[in-house]
Amino acid sequence: MTPTGKLAINGGPKSVTNLISPWPIASDAVRQSLQSVVDSNAWGLYDGDSTYALQVKLQDLFDCAHSLLSCSGTVAVELALRGVGVKRGDEVILAAYDFPGNFRAIEAIGAMPVLVDVAEGGWIIDIENLATAVSEKTSAILVSHLHGQLIDITAVRESLPRPVPIVEDCCQVPGASIDGKPCGSFGGVSAFSFGGSKLLSAGRGGAVLSNDESVISRAKHFGSRGNDAFPLSQLQAAVLIPQLDELESLNSVRQSAVEEMVAAIGKDCGSQLIRPKTQKQSAWYKLPWRLRSNVGREVVISRLKAEGVPVDVGFRGFAKRTARRCRKIGDLVNAQQAADETILLHHPALLEPAETREQIVSGFKKVMTSLDG
Ligand SMILES: *Cc1c(COP(=O)(O)O)cnc(C)c1O
Repeated sequence: MTPTGKLAINGGPKSVTNLISPWPIASDAVRQSLQSVVDSNAWGLYDGDSTYALQVKLQDLFDCAHSLLSCSGTVAVELALRGVGVKRGDEVILAAYDFPGNFRAIEAIGAMPVLVDVAEGGWIIDIENLATAVSEKTSAILVSHLHGQLIDITAVRESLPRPVPIVEDCCQVPGASIDGKPCGSFGGVSAFSFGGSKLLSAGRGGAVLSNDESVISRAKHFGSRGNDAFPLSQLQAAVLIPQLDELESLNSVRQSAVEEMVAAIGKDCGSQLIRPKTQKQSAWYKLPWRLRSNVGREVVISRLKAEGVPVDVGFRGFAKRTARRCRKIGDLVNAQQAADETILLHHPALLEPAETREQIVSGFKKVMTSLDG
């Protein structure tokens, strides 16, 4: 898919403050897939060829034998936790900087979040702090591959004092891999999102994947209320299927754009915009930096936005949550710093033509150098 649908959606030329095409991009493949479901009576079925085909493709792509479609990534995370057996009164370990819904998913089950710091300067859980967080009550570890930074699940597993199920949150990185093995196949179970802004999008939706059939059947059982309480429809599946075919090639376009933009921005703004080494074969829903500036982050972001650069703040993190709601391991300074300093470039920018990406780089340079003087 090339980003050709943008004028049709945008309805006009792009202004300086609107450099980036809207997301998702309609493609002929998506239109055809949707049309064929509309033309059949299959769009009235709860499950049918589209949902089955989507499951098969997801299982194939992410190297898992079993799957369950769901209505969102948030629910997919909760179903994954329930699938590995998390129950009321248990503890679940997660990073103190993560998607807010992950904390809530643990609470929704009646379990207690246990917060572990993120690695210094990064956005993913600090593996060295994991062992001390494990207690008798720990029934899962929820780890997110976040902002394009991939976590080594094998190292997570090896760091644990006893076997604990690992739930892999892949909502931000569909199609990423480590040493050729897809993210989503490392943990005991994984969660994906097909939300409106995500790399794979049906506006809403999610999926749970596992190689352990009993994990999926427990998750499925929770959603069974005579009917599936958290479903994904045939029409949603139809728009997702062609996107899966294009995921690898689009991910590689985004990866190249990231490497190029990070290098170009780092050249002039490297003392103010800090980021760790870029991993290969990642997937980029958000491209992150840590902002080091005397000028407040909101001001910097609004100036960047005025230059047409699509940036925003990161997550608020959980380091300041009360002790009533969670158990904290250590002082969580790195997570608080991530919450205070993160700025994120939204992914549609990465598929834009070179000229637009250069404008974004210039926007960064203009704003960051103005902060010095
Ligand atoms: C988006 C996201 C989710 C939740 O997905 P939704 O489909 O929006 O509910 C979960 N975890 C992470 C890391 C996400 O980025």
